[in-house]
Amino acid sequence: MAADWTRLAREIAAFPDEVRELSVTPTLDHREIRDRLRERFPFTAAVPLDEVAAEVSDLLRHGLVHVTSPRYFGLFNPSVREAGVVGDTLAALYNPQLAAASHAPAEIEIEGHTLRALAGLLGLPGEDLHATFTTGGAEANLTALAVALAWRFPQAREAGLTGLGERPAIYLSGESHHSFAKAALMCGLGTGALRRVPVTAALTLDPEALAARIEDDREAGWCPALVVATAGTTGAGAIDPLGPLAEVAAAAGAWLHVDAAWGGLAALTPRLRPLLAGIEAADSVTWDAHKGLSVPMGAGMFFCRHPAAVDDAFGFATPYMPSPAGEGITDPYATTVQWSRRAIGLKVFTSLAELGLPGYAGLIEHQVAMGDRLRALLVAAGWRLANDTPLPLVCFTHPELEAAGAAPADLLPTIYRRGRAWVSEVFLGDARRRALRACITSFRTEERDLEVLVEELETARREALAQRTQAAGSSGRFSARISK
Ligand SMILES: *Cc1c(COP(=O)(O)O)cnc(C)c1O
Repeated sequence: MAADWTRLAREIAAFPDEVRELSVTPTLDHREIRDRLRERFPFTAAVPLDEVAAEVSDLLRHGLVHVTSPRYFGLFNPSVREAGVVGDTLAALYNPQLAAASHAPAEIEIEGHTLRALAGLLGLPGEDLHATFTTGGAEANLTALAVALAWRFPQAREAGLTGLGERPAIYLSGESHHSFAKAALMCGLGTGALRRVPVTAALTLDPEALAARIEDDREAGWCPALVVATAGTTGAGAIDPLGPLAEVAAAAGAWLHVDAAWGGLAALTPRLRPLLAGIEAADSVTWDAHKGLSVPMGAGMFFCRHPAAVDDAFGFATPYMPSPAGEGITDPYATTVQWSRRAIGLKVFTSLAELGLPGYAGLIEHQVAMGDRLRALLVAAGWRLANDTPLPLVCFTHPELEAAGAAPADLLPTIYRRGRAWVSEVFLGDARRRALRACITSFRTEERDLEVLVEELETARREALAQRTQAAGSSGRFSARISK
């Protein structure tokens, strides 16, 4: 057993360096992986654990998009730190049960201590605050909707929402996260309850347009339940004007939820914290540790200033659960979506403790500097920027591609085939303008990685344009032949 762990420890130490040289994209496809699993693991006999682990490592090495690569410029999936791997390993070993507080006082306090520190960075109160770890941002956003509905319509706890006589409405922009569409379905509101408000040229939710939309909707029988502001949109990293949106929401009697799933990282450095001004006025906040805090998935966070509303949404007493642990201590099963829950927050605690807040500020500032550097490199190579955010997320197009009628996505097959970097396509604003999107998600990304990305973009751009010219040439010959 000690030999197994020695091998694993060596792998954990070496992988962050090795991943830079691996293909960012998978080199095995589904069929190859399936065939290998069928052949080597029919489950008809026992296989020694060291062989199982070696085979799994090999499959993962060659069968994943490596989100921990410093050349993965993708969705908000970070490189992970050793401290997070240690925290997650201890969680697996001790297997704390977080349904009832009395089962896991150590982990309850570790999580509470961590959440209070992070809440403080958001300007949320230390007292009278409900805070919990979630599987991710989607669960935190679902929680926000469930709690907002419980707060706005207490009568619905027993009677349900159908008896209200008015329809609960959720206000958000086209740039907000699609988890709210799922949440609306799960809470029985239907997607019609998603009332989209136009965005400004900066891709932010417009408070005046919000007020106007609420006014119009009221006349049509809608009741404003929830306003969703996004601090750091998934597509473009735009930050909605939180203070003004809080005022409009309060005037309408609606709950303000700030979805800072990724943009919450700005709170980790005093230099960027002012970008989140107004977040302290939110009724609830989503912030993902498995994005900006570089911890392994999944670790979301939900903060809420109204613990009583949380009780209304999730409070139940059962005959089989242990009785409450004591004064001021709440049982997670009676205040959250989950029942049995793993020690999600342990890896966040170990990461925060190992690095400290000043260390985190350094990581975030490095990522922001890399974002600025990427913008400069792209502009120097003739690319045009398509978004404007101080956060390390860059959207861009190339005038030559546009002139040739090529889509940004035409570059992706070449980039993914070569496997040296990873970017994605995005659709921006109410007009759904297409652009490429590169986010600095790894604290290990360095200037040399940015140079590789720009090289890959240039190679793919030349290939796409050459293909266009060739296609235009051959279709030209073809039509010439027909016309003869
Ligand atoms: C990523 C993201 C989510 C969803 O979070 P998960 O952790 O993937 O569940 C929600 N909102 C925003 C703004 C996001 O960027």
